[in-house]
Amino acid sequence: MKILLANPRGFCAGVNMAIQTVEEALKIVGTPLYVYHEIVHNRHVVDQFIKEGVVFVDTIDEVPADSTVVFSAHGVPPAVRNAAKGRGCTLIDATCPFVTKVHMEAIRYAKQGYKILLIGHAGHDEVEGTIGEAPDAITIVESPEDVENLPFTLDDKIAYITQTTLSRDDAQRIIGAIQKKYPNAKIPPSEDICYATTNRQDAIRSGASDADFVLVIGSQNSSNSVRLMEIAHQNGTPAKLIDDKSELDHQWFEADQTVVITAGASAPEHLVQEIVSELLDTYGGEVEEFYVVEEDMHFNLPVTLRVLRGDTSWTAKAD
Ligand code: SF4
Repeated sequence: MKILLANPRGFCAGVNMAIQTVEEALKIVGTPLYVYHEIVHNRHVVDQFIKEGVVFVDTIDEVPADSTVVFSAHGVPPAVRNAAKGRGCTLIDATCPFVTKVHMEAIRYAKQGYKILLIGHAGHDEVEGTIGEAPDAITIVESPEDVENLPFTLDDKIAYITQTTLSRDDAQRIIGAIQKKYPNAKIPPSEDICYATTNRQDAIRSGASDADFVLVIGSQNSSNSVRLMEIAHQNGTPAKLIDDKSELDHQWFEADQTVVITAGASAPEHLVQEIVSELLDTYGGEVEEFYVVEEDMHFNLPVTLRVLRGDTSWTAKAD
């Protein structure tokens, strides 16, 4: 078997920052440490933190008054932030800066009187957080058909923003429908789909055509991981999204195949390596890495965390 490992794959800067935030908060605050929603959408990461004393909650009511709560990489609506403050909690905000940027766009467009079309998946944590910034101004659109059904007229001020982890091709189809129906729609000042999503998708587009099969390592609720599997399918290559080696089904493979392996932005690398070892042990063969781009993005830890640990060097730098 020839195994082609896609690069970039796995952890992005936002996930690295969010995971490091919880690790540091555990050291400083101790347990139980409350985290609002899964810190990142990966079962292994979440299960490991639960073992270490993290309590993941879906409502702020579950967080005792005056305790510390970490907000996940996907961001939270202002109502959640205010509810936590109202309980006297210390807030550590591990929202990815790329998600915060979309929140800021929503706030600005709403203040300027735009009707905002949020291209994204209803119910996703990130989308819920963004909607919370301007609930009266935002309408979710998930498809070109949704655009067709919008009630707004050409006299309305329309702007659009997108979830950070969409497929670029899918987003482009929806943007095309928006621009066709509302030619004056305000275009965001820069791309909302983040660098990590884009790079992982480009790697799969590049590798899938050489592959008999694509394996994406990630959890089913990881939006960017699901998009990677869909992109492989769109290239005509069979693909599966699995959490770890226990979900491998050997009916998918033949010894003479080329298999491309990638990992979503929240999937730990050790899971990839365990799967590679299992395939090599079973089928023999070789492993090759291929790259579409090198990444060197890094985010600072949240300011509250750095203050809690007595690090004042942050005052000289912007987050
Ligand atoms: S996938 Fe993109 S938006 Fe999401 S945490 Fe990573 S860098 Fe941030």
